[in-house]
Amino acid sequence: MVNKIKYCEKCKRYTLEEKCPICGNQTISKVPPRFSPVDRTGKYRRQIKKELLKKEGLL
Ligand SMILES: [Zn+2]
Repeated sequence: MVNKIKYCEKCKRYTLEEKCPICGNQTISKVPPRFSPVDRTGKYRRQIKKELLKKEGLL
């Protein structure tokens, strides 16, 4: 449910509420960094690197 994650810019806190449970501020839709496509690309890149190293080890 990544698209349901909201963020309060005031508290710098993630929540699932439309309004921040701490300050009542309107929250915005924001995906945490760990769900970002950049991270996924990094993971994919690491996987490729791992496979390349594995291949090199077999040579
Ligand atoms: Zn807040």
